[in-house]
Amino acid sequence: MAPGLLGRTPTSVRVGLDKLARPTPAILSAGIRGQSISELRRHGKLLMLRMSGGSTWAIHLGMTGQVILAETRPLVKHIHITVGFADGGPRLYYRDPRQFGFMAWCADQAALEAGPLANMGPDALGIPLEVFLERLHGRSGKLKSLLLDQRVLAGVGNIYADESLHRAELHPLARPAGLSREQLANLHRHLQETLAEALARGGSTISNFVDAHGRPGTFQHAHRVYQRGGQACGVCGREIQRIVVAGRSTHFCPGCQGQ
Ligand SMILES: [Zn+2]
Repeated sequence: MAPGLLGRTPTSVRVGLDKLARPTPAILSAGIRGQSISELRRHGKLLMLRMSGGSTWAIHLGMTGQVILAETRPLVKHIHITVGFADGGPRLYYRDPRQFGFMAWCADQAALEAGPLANMGPDALGIPLEVFLERLHGRSGKLKSLLLDQRVLAGVGNIYADESLHRAELHPLARPAGLSREQLANLHRHLQETLAEALARGGSTISNFVDAHGRPGTFQHAHRVYQRGGQACGVCGREIQRIVVAGRSTHFCPGCQGQ
């Protein structure tokens, strides 16, 4: 997204669904209009666009949020916010079928930390081993729930939790308190590898994910367990099981991931 946004100045903000614009559509619009985008950062599922005046335009992707940069309005449903730019180039379309994401304007770093970044754990991508162990070691919760909990680690979603646990040969219901340091270190390594591989392949397109230019990802072809319930495990041949953990569909192999 950076090449399509850096240095550009928003001049119009159209909000179709008020609850997705924080603190209000009018404040969001007044905050970012006329300021150029000087830097892009990401933490977990939160994108942070630093504006020339020092404020931040935050875009949280939630579960199904998407940023689409395009000359004309894409022919898809659920586009809730449209931002136009001074250069008349591609507009930014914020699409979010399930509406768990949002856009926010934060006047300064303190507002960012008290708002969109509040209660967010360290970013999962590139998290140092020691920090990862500190977050999980000795915890009594279920591994899958902890991986999805953005307060523990930011940025791990349902697909990558399942895929990392299979690669690390850990049962989704295992609890860190019952695991060795080596097992958790192994999970750290597989989580990093899974995220890096998925990024290199443009993510996983199951139903609607596409990148900022509308391109689908291909990592779904590398999935070992996610949405493969009833199929044979590619490693051991046992039938992949589906259970529900923390309200989310969870897939694992009872052979590779014995509890
Ligand atoms: Zn298996």
